Amino acid sequence: MEQQKILLVGAGIAGVALARHLDKRNIPFEVIDAGKNHSSRIAAGLINPMVFRRMAKSWRVDEFLPYAKQFYAEATTEWGQTYFHPIPIRRAFAHQQEYDFWVKKQNLEEYQAYLKPLDDSDHKNTSVINTYGTGEVLNAAYISTKQLLDDAFKWLQQTKRLRIEKIQYKDIDPQNATYKGEQFAKIIFCEGYHGLENPWFNYLPLQATKGETITITSEDISNSESLNRKCFTLPVKDTIYRVGATYAWDDPTLHTTEAARSELIGHLQNLSSCNFEVLDQEAGIRPTVLDRRPLLGKHIHFPALSIFNGLGTKGYLMAPLLAKEMTDFILNDKNLDREIDIQRYHKRLL
Ligand SMILES: Cc1cc2nc3c(=O)[nH]c(=O)nc-3n(C[C@H](O)[C@H](O)[C@H](O)COP(=O)(O)OP(=O)(O)OC[C@H]3O[C@@H](n4cnc5c(N)ncnc54)[C@H](O)[C@@H]3O)c2cc1C
Repeated sequence: MEQQKILLVGAGIAGVALARHLDKRNIPFEVIDAGKNHSSRIAAGLINPMVFRRMAKSWRVDEFLPYAKQFYAEATTEWGQTYFHPIPIRRAFAHQQEYDFWVKKQNLEEYQAYLKPLDDSDHKNTSVINTYGTGEVLNAAYISTKQLLDDAFKWLQQTKRLRIEKIQYKDIDPQNATYKGEQFAKIIFCEGYHGLENPWFNYLPLQATKGETITITSEDISNSESLNRKCFTLPVKDTIYRVGATYAWDDPTLHTTEAARSELIGHLQNLSSCNFEVLDQEAGIRPTVLDRRPLLGKHIHFPALSIFNGLGTKGYLMAPLLAKEMTDFILNDKNLDREIDIQRYHKRLL
């Protein structure tokens, strides 16, 4: 008898990463995507192993980063494009305390892969407006997000596993995992911020966090590093750079705003004395979670329905390994890490 397919709803980085894992294990699946992506495509794709606010390593980065490298390298082997591009991040310290934290941590074993010990050249660095000094973050990278999603769509289309349509929840029977009457083994929702509307998972504390970036042209900004303080710069091509990103919790629209543009221009002018011209502006919506941990797991009453969401600001770092953990959970009943398992919110349903 033919094995029933798993249905993935959404083909952002969450859905694509899951699709790659199911494919690897020869599990039949189909992806349905509305064809409009407002997060994974807009994302600059930066992979920053540090959280500067606390001058601490990003959560589980020692596991996520090597796994992500391998995941994107495998996609390169298969699809012929390079997606993972190493680039150092030049942090311009925001205040004396940041410098002090860096100095304290730079020689600790667990930070050696990420914080380059400061030397005189960091102090004298002129690529940024430098009051408290600068530091170089190692093992940072960025992903060519649009290219990756385009190639993933091509792969899914060529293997006849992609349908472009917006799923209406009324067409799903949650008890039997059918969609428009068609039976699936499981349905996994990878809907990004649209998950807010999902009638089976809308008890989870998912938030829509709008972000905007601008694209600039500049002849005199550093193109060998991503500069960072209050905003980041990311070299795109020749004299073109992305600058991002803003955070807004009270605007669920996808319009670009004058306020975000001025904010980013102001941050860039405080970070670098380069001359630049703004060419473009984009807006997207991140699926963030109150406790800053992703949302993975099965519905408590409808076990054929699962969710893979809440990737927040670090989707491109976390999705590859989390998709593996989700696959192990779905197929082999392997427990999810308690920090990401939606069981932590089940009392909201009882
Ligand atoms: C401005 C900005 C900058 C960012 N920068 C970075 C960065 O530098 N690095 C980083 O790692 N992350 C960054 N992010 C965050 C990153 O974009 C997210 O973590 C990630 O894209 C979330 O992926 P996702 O697949 O969960 O959601 P999405 O990318 O939103 O994908 C969800 C998909 O589901 C589909 N869908 C939803 N509902 C339905 C339905 N009912 N029927 C059919 N299809 C449906 C949608 O069409 C969409 O394609 C940034 C985000 C923004 C907005």
